[in-house]
Amino acid sequence: MNPADPALTMTDRYAVIGHPIAHSKSPAIHAAFAAQTAQDMTYEALLAPLDGFVETVARFREQGGRGLNVTVPFKEEAWRLTDRLSERARLAGAVNTLVVDGHGFSGDNTDGAGLVRDLEFLGCHPAGARVMLLGAGGAARGVVLPLLEAGAARLFIANRTPDRARALQAHFAGHDARGVLRAGGWEDAASTPCDIVINATSASLSDEAPPLPAGLYAPDSLAYDMVYGRGLTAFLAQARAQGAARVADGLGMLVEQAAEAFALWRGVRPDTAPVRAQLRAATPSLA
Ligand code: NAP
Repeated sequence: MNPADPALTMTDRYAVIGHPIAHSKSPAIHAAFAAQTAQDMTYEALLAPLDGFVETVARFREQGGRGLNVTVPFKEEAWRLTDRLSERARLAGAVNTLVVDGHGFSGDNTDGAGLVRDLEFLGCHPAGARVMLLGAGGAARGVVLPLLEAGAARLFIANRTPDRARALQAHFAGHDARGVLRAGGWEDAASTPCDIVINATSASLSDEAPPLPAGLYAPDSLAYDMVYGRGLTAFLAQARAQGAARVADGLGMLVEQAAEAFALWRGVRPDTAPVRAQLRAATPSLA
């Protein structure tokens, strides 16, 4: 071993890749994790052209990059890029974490684990809970397996286009040994009250809420919007009016999925509490 070899002395490089990317909170989150755990690493925001994801990733790797987080709109392209996928990434159809290995990349999806950890942090672990998942796009697909594995007593997927929800149910049927997975449209959603209602639609981005029927929220229930940084969204306001005991946004999920990726890369799990507090202080309140 030659200690003068730059490959042995170089600071490890990581990045989040997306388009756009300037708004990303990931560099600040990972810088905080690295400082807290004394890791010798850098983490930057990497803008890839819409038609240049694969080339940008290849260049990053050639320049010594060790790992990437992948965000909108490239998660599906990252999934296609690698054939070494974790089971949760394979089923999610999307990759948000790439790890450089000897042959290329392995791909994982830490979004679902991030959601489950955040729910746990909020005192609402899905084990034994009746869960409603709104939406059937990429975000919903990424969290179904982790919610099933966390032991939800019932998991109902409701979507504006009910057939997309039913297609998700069929996709995960092989992982639903307990037979807890159901799917349908908004009007099918009210048959039993729920303990946790998760909004994985993008309706909040246009200040809309899914038209949910009354009777959805059990006493002590949590309404959770995956969107963050927008204060009390139309969905969360509707949830309060319909009887949800508590509301939360997706900021904690963002931090927890980052911690999961950090642990994959560095083999050390950061304490997320101070980073959550730091971000929360700089984010519109849910009051
Ligand atoms: P997507 O693949 O485009 O799917 C959008 C979903 O929203 C579909 O189910 C769609 O229904 C539904 N939808 C869109 N507009 C709607 C409306 N006005 N009313 C009701 N339903 C509507 O998007 P995605 O990637 O799943 O992302 C969804 C959201 O999750 C985004 O806001 C994203 O920011 C958030 N997210 C957060 C995190 C985090 O870390 N906190 C991570 C991932 C994603 P149809 O099938 O009928 O079109």
